[in-house]
Amino acid sequence: MKAKKRYNYGECEICNAALEEKFIKQDFWIRDELVVVEGVPAGVCPRCGEKVVKSDVGRWIMKLIENSERIASAPKIAVPTIKYEAEEARI
Ligand SMILES: [Zn+2]
Repeated sequence: MKAKKRYNYGECEICNAALEEKFIKQDFWIRDELVVVEGVPAGVCPRCGEKVVKSDVGRWIMKLIENSERIASAPKIAVPTIKYEAEEARI
């Protein structure tokens, strides 16, 4: 079988729509640090947004995010940080 063939992610477990292959960003908290992995192949549900990652892809990501040197040398992005204020939340 040719490697070109797209992986069939099957149907969404939640709403049964056919999953579409997309490249997504996944975020992980590692020792209080937010790490984003880009370009992750995943099956994405066009209806409810459920995401499914193949087990070998998941395993590879786990290896990537355990590599603290790679994380230290990766480009940084700024993310909005909002503090939850109990006073402000009171309606
Ligand atoms: Zn769905």
